[in-house]
Amino acid sequence: MNYDKLFIGGAWVAPSSAKRIDVRSASTEEPIGSVPEAQEADVDAAVAAGRRAFPVWAQTPPADRAAAMERLAGILERRADEVVQRVSSQNGMPVAVAGQLEGAFPVVLLRYYAGLIRDGASEETRPGLFGGKTLVRKEAVGVVGAIVPWNFPQTLAAFKYAPALAAGCPLVIKPSPETVLDSFLFAEAVAEAGIPAGVVNIVPGGRELGAYLVEHPGIDKISFTGSTAAGRSIGETCGRLLRPVTLELGGKSAAIVLDDAKLELEKIAEQLFTATLLNNGQTCFLGTRVLAPRARYSEIVDLFTGFAGALKVGDALDPATQIGPMASARQRERVEGYIAKGRGEGARVTIGGGRPADRDRGYFVEPTVFADVDNNHTIAQEEIFGPVLSVIPYADEEEAVRIANDSDYGLGGTVWTNDPERGLAVAKRVQTGTIGVNTYLPDPTAPFGGVKASGIGRELGPEGLANYQQLKSVYLG
Ligand code: NAD
Repeated sequence: MNYDKLFIGGAWVAPSSAKRIDVRSASTEEPIGSVPEAQEADVDAAVAAGRRAFPVWAQTPPADRAAAMERLAGILERRADEVVQRVSSQNGMPVAVAGQLEGAFPVVLLRYYAGLIRDGASEETRPGLFGGKTLVRKEAVGVVGAIVPWNFPQTLAAFKYAPALAAGCPLVIKPSPETVLDSFLFAEAVAEAGIPAGVVNIVPGGRELGAYLVEHPGIDKISFTGSTAAGRSIGETCGRLLRPVTLELGGKSAAIVLDDAKLELEKIAEQLFTATLLNNGQTCFLGTRVLAPRARYSEIVDLFTGFAGALKVGDALDPATQIGPMASARQRERVEGYIAKGRGEGARVTIGGGRPADRDRGYFVEPTVFADVDNNHTIAQEEIFGPVLSVIPYADEEEAVRIANDSDYGLGGTVWTNDPERGLAVAKRVQTGTIGVNTYLPDPTAPFGGVKASGIGRELGPEGLANYQQLKSVYLG
């Protein structure tokens, strides 16, 4: 799967250099595709195209923007299987997971935001306290720089482009080098949908190119998903430039098992999987710190050990696979480094801890559970981004909440209990942007994002649309 041109200004154009990004399969390590690597000159061209498109797209009637987004949704829906194959072969996400997320979520988001912009008023008149009236308008914020990670490349791009397109903002999207092939399929869909020229531009490249985009004088807003380290650097630049920025960063969330929880695996395995190990553990919201009441500690360690040990590890393209490989050799090294650190700090591996014996190709790591973890251990404080769970004992509910909140991060989390009201009461005390009771799955209509080192701002819901709008008050006397 090779591409020779870049999608900029609504056309396939020759790249400014001969440099290329080569992509390998995470499951087999075989080369699977190659695309041009965008350079600064290509970003300049993409931003200029976005600037030209801005007045046109922002002034396109909302109903027409919505219709264009629905056409795009229809094409992505038709090509969902191809999206899934491309994403899974690149980053190792099992196709069963990719079908539910990468293939489906962008379509849902495009339709959701198309509906919001079609039905929602973009201005209102308010009676003033001094006798006059004010027209309050929501206007498109401008050209958006969207920087996307490799773990859910299509879904997390859609978290940005769906509300931005609805608001009337053109985008320059920078995918991660690990997952560029799906972004070319997306570009084909944009072209087929007849989205006006320059409204969507794609510049594949690495972090230097991302930093160049963040600084670019033609960009009005940055929306970033990725690591906390990169987010801090981008936040500093945007602070200096007074450029609006949304940051969706890392997490180290708690899965709090209350003492009354009836954890019957046959009933809750799917919810538990989504909440703790989805996408091979390469998901920012996962509850990777399992907090277990001391009185039931060994039972819960055994339960998670059995749960992780029963997961089917295999090629991401096999529909039966539950845990695929890490996205890259670098990512596997990082995960293995944390497993070694966990052992070194005195935690006990109850299952996994190595590479699966039957896989000699691909960046595989066995699903791994650590017991006897103290919340101060490195594996309990730092984001591993792999299939590694730490089970941490607590004495009572107070201590469970204290441990859950003893983290630099605050993105996701779950409470497991037989009493949903008690679960809700505990959920309210956890410092986090999102949390579930006996389940966890972000919903398009509800704001998603983090507190503390997990980020600034929210995506999804009407709040996600507001990211791409600025308010103007017109005093009418
Ligand atoms: P990363 O931060 O290295 O890269 C993310 C993207 O940003 C890539 O496109 C990369 O090229 C670009 N980038 C990196 N440094 C940059 C810089 N200084 N300026 C501009 N662009 C830059 O992260 P990653 O390794 O690709 O992704 C994994 C991380 O992302 C994990 O820590 C994970 O928790 C986090 N993440 C968070 C969310 C969320 O919604 N909060 C979602 C997915 C991933």
